[in-house]
Amino acid sequence: MDLDTSKLIDGNRVAESIYEELRAEIAELSGRAPRVVFIRVGEDPASRFYVSKKKKIALSIGAESDIVILPETITEEELIVKVKEFNKDDGTDGILVQAPLPKGISEANVFNSIDPKKDVDGFNVLNSGLLVQEDLESFAPCTPQGILELLKREKIETTGKHVVVIGRSLIVGKPMALLLARKHPQGNATVTICHSRSENLPEITKQADILVSAIGRPATVTADMVKEGAVVIDVGINRVDDPEAKKGYRIVGDVDFEAVVPLVSKITPVPGGVGPMTVATLMQNTLKAYKLRHSR
Ligand code: NAD
Repeated sequence: MDLDTSKLIDGNRVAESIYEELRAEIAELSGRAPRVVFIRVGEDPASRFYVSKKKKIALSIGAESDIVILPETITEEELIVKVKEFNKDDGTDGILVQAPLPKGISEANVFNSIDPKKDVDGFNVLNSGLLVQEDLESFAPCTPQGILELLKREKIETTGKHVVVIGRSLIVGKPMALLLARKHPQGNATVTICHSRSENLPEITKQADILVSAIGRPATVTADMVKEGAVVIDVGINRVDDPEAKKGYRIVGDVDFEAVVPLVSKITPVPGGVGPMTVATLMQNTLKAYKLRHSR
């Protein structure tokens, strides 16, 4: 198939331009650089990969960053003690505890122990509440916040548009819907949330001017679910077997990409669409945390 590349939203390019802006802004700061600490528990290969990638990017924009590695056997109480050490540390602006955590540790309890002003991942319950209250100083989860930034920089209007979000998770679906419904130039949308129990899904998604899919299953958003001219934001990250690929698999989104591309006005590819924006937002949040803490 000849792919019309003009329809693709290039998340890598947008993330790079954000890094350039952050690099310039951090270079101008007087005093120490912003610092973000990543706490990783155990040796999960995906967590190791994500955390070291985030640290590398943090250093590349001139921020300071450390990875704290804790054993798989750590208890919830011990982990929370560690988080609280960084809460108290004046030289730390951002704290991220990499999920998933070992069985028996409540992620919610751990996220809620992070100082909300250092909660650059935006998972603390106080930040969830502040998001509902439309407090712009709060931290929203990075993926939906990054999608808003992507829409803004691609000049995709949200005001008055019907956005359908598929997925109601705390890290993507719900905060995405809340952000888009906010009384804000990058919000002001009419938002519908769908999920695994929604009936007549194609009927609903076909009404979307902007369709955001955060399901986690390949080829779930099919051509009959998309309105002609819609913008499609594919958040899904799914592995599918591919004997021709070096690793034996490849990464795809939720959208039946080849069938849907001819219909859309814009679409995020997977990989290279939403994914890079999640890390870029984390870096924006680190500088934001630094600025909020230094302005008081
Ligand atoms: P989740 O499993 O917590 O939520 C999935 C949601 O999809 C649920 O609310 C469920 O109701 C809904 N769902 C499941 N099957 C459905 C169906 N057939 N029809 C309609 N709705 C259905 O997952 P999550 O954490 O929100 O992540 C979703 C996807 O996004 C995953 O693939 C994940 O890897 C990816 N993700 C990507 C990024 C990124 O940076 N690009 C960040 C976070 C998550």
